[in-house]
Amino acid sequence: MNAQQLELINNQLERLGKVENGFYKRKFADCNTRIKSIGDFQKLPFTEKDELRHEYPLGISAVPESEIVRIHSSSGTTGTPVIIPYTAQDITDWAIMFERCYRMAGLTNMDRVHITPGYGLWTAGIGFQTGAERLGCMAIPIGPGNTDKQIQMMIDLKSTVLCSTSSYALLLAEEIEARGVKDKIHLKKGLIGSERWGEKMRRRIADELGVRLYDIYGLTEIYGPGIGMSCDCECGIHMWDDYVYCEIIDERTGKPVKDGEIGELVITTLKKQGAPLIRYRAHDLTRFLPGDCACGSPYPRIDTLIGRTDDMVKVKGVNIYPGQIEDVLREVKGVSSEYQVMIDHLNGKDIMTLFFEVSEGTDKAVIEELVKVTFKIKVGIITVPKAVNIGELPRSEKKSKRIFDNRY
Ligand code: ZN
Repeated sequence: MNAQQLELINNQLERLGKVENGFYKRKFADCNTRIKSIGDFQKLPFTEKDELRHEYPLGISAVPESEIVRIHSSSGTTGTPVIIPYTAQDITDWAIMFERCYRMAGLTNMDRVHITPGYGLWTAGIGFQTGAERLGCMAIPIGPGNTDKQIQMMIDLKSTVLCSTSSYALLLAEEIEARGVKDKIHLKKGLIGSERWGEKMRRRIADELGVRLYDIYGLTEIYGPGIGMSCDCECGIHMWDDYVYCEIIDERTGKPVKDGEIGELVITTLKKQGAPLIRYRAHDLTRFLPGDCACGSPYPRIDTLIGRTDDMVKVKGVNIYPGQIEDVLREVKGVSSEYQVMIDHLNGKDIMTLFFEVSEGTDKAVIEELVKVTFKIKVGIITVPKAVNIGELPRSEKKSKRIFDNRY
């Protein structure tokens, strides 16, 4: 934490302490909110999404209503949505950060930015748009769906940049391929929202669309997408640390992890007015990447997201994330990307069985041994590997559940 961040956090805390019946005035009633060091800061309690839900609709607002110019809302797939109020300055700050993302990807005012994320209560579409306009690009706010029109406009308007989720980018790539119009497409770059996506999918999208891909990070509770962005070096995501202060903690103990270790990302807003958040638990798993980036950007980096804390399991005392399992399987030649994990407790011991698919005719015993050894080296525990033929593991369109914990 540098001196400027410390001062900004103290400014935020001071302001929050003055909001009559405000969320943080109630939450921090019992603690000293003047901080002198990182140690003081780490004594402040975390903020959880559930707490924000309880403030529905506008309990977390930290400004008079006259200053609120817009609200956004999290999707609310699991119960009450969280409403985030924005002041005019918040909207401007978000656009400044987003413009920075586009500049990092090398966009100029001659780019035509095809925006497929949704508009409405979500922060997605409109965030991509205001940033593009601020840079002077031509924003094409088409939104999701209607693939025919989507591809036609991409051809007619000569879109150069695609903003999308990874799954929609893949769908578009496949449709463009199927229609045989690849030579009419002018895309050069793809900015993909920060959901977790595998390396294989990334390569397919990049190859089929013929674009260079970038990861953009963000969450509705903290502005929206655009608070961090990957660069040409493709080594993690630069976070705009003049707007957000990031910590990585052990999700069980709440203590900071050692530098470079994987943990849960916790974010504090430094300048937000409408709904500042202090030590907000993002439940995204990542780690800080040490050292300077070869691109020359001074902004610190987090690694590409490894998963969500809800996807993590602890086996034989070791935390295991879906991303690590995918890494191991990718390393072993002849193994496909589908897998399933069963965790059982037998005779006082945890047993982790890892099912994965191989092509018919493969020597399963050999490949199982390779997976076992690679898993032990990379993750640190012994698994029971089980090779099955391609197509034998269940598939679903949606993010399928791959880890089954049968111990409890
Ligand atoms: Zn960089």
